Amino acid sequence: MEILDGRALSSEIKARCKEDVAKLKERGITPGLAVILVGDDPASHTYVAMKEKSCKEVGIYSIVHKMPEDISQDKILETIEMMNQNPNIDGILLQLPLPEHINTQKLLSAIDPQKDVDGFHPTNVGKLVLGLDAFAPCTPLGVMELLKKYDIDPKGKDVCVVGASNIVGKPMMNLLLNANATVDICHIYTKDLAAHTRDADMVIVGVGKIGLITADMVKDGAIVIDIGINKTEDGKIVGDVAYEEVSKKCSYITPVPGGVGPMTIAMLMQNTVKSAKRRVDA
Ligand code: NAD
Repeated sequence: MEILDGRALSSEIKARCKEDVAKLKERGITPGLAVILVGDDPASHTYVAMKEKSCKEVGIYSIVHKMPEDISQDKILETIEMMNQNPNIDGILLQLPLPEHINTQKLLSAIDPQKDVDGFHPTNVGKLVLGLDAFAPCTPLGVMELLKKYDIDPKGKDVCVVGASNIVGKPMMNLLLNANATVDICHIYTKDLAAHTRDADMVIVGVGKIGLITADMVKDGAIVIDIGINKTEDGKIVGDVAYEEVSKKCSYITPVPGGVGPMTIAMLMQNTVKSAKRRVDA
């Protein structure tokens, strides 16, 4: 069994981004990322702080617009519009989840698709489905990079994706399909989850449920990718896979933490640099 080391690969990718940023700066371009953070959700604040830290590391200019929980939708829209127009901003990220009174989809759709480094705008979602060049969501994109690093080609593999959200499972399914995998996607209403995971060459799970995938649910030699992030009662961070027992059976596995998590931020850096490169040709 081999561990897919997302931490190491994320450092490599960030180092590459840093070189790219240095080259862009020589041409007078400093990539810029704007983050909109609404409310006091502690997890969101932690994620945004991590994103800011990575920006600093690679030399990307970042600005965080912190807004109170009761902010109006129009005020957020105004900020998005301002960032759309700002030539120094290459990426706009709306930290999710947003408070209930906000129409998340409306705000995501207001972001300029060319600055949509999270890949949530309908234009980028559509392009991803069509297999066109697009900003793909950072977490599933990070999974694809991790597979590439370890020479795991999804082509022809039976892959079972567990979890079908817009930010994880669905784009994961499309990226895999574009890479010629045969994809089976499961969710909360799937009747018999084990019947789907048991025969898969690769199981990719992003649900948010501790211990959802157990050893009896994966075949010998399977590749297991754990996207889940959960906190145990004693404050430990764990994924959705029962790591101890599953790791004994599979050929490759991602740890939590240190697997897919760090890849997400690395992909955000990569997408922001990709967006800034457009300015060279403009
Ligand atoms: P979500 O709540 O939006 O979606 C969860 C999905 O899991 C849904 O499609 C739901 O139908 C499915 N599901 C729920 N219970 C299930 C069950 N018992 N069996 C099968 N499917 C089930 O969550 P999300 O935003 O997609 O996040 C999923 C997990 O991934 C969370 O743990 C989250 O913290 C983690 N996550 C990690 C990263 C990262 O960087 N590693 C990024 C985003 C999300």
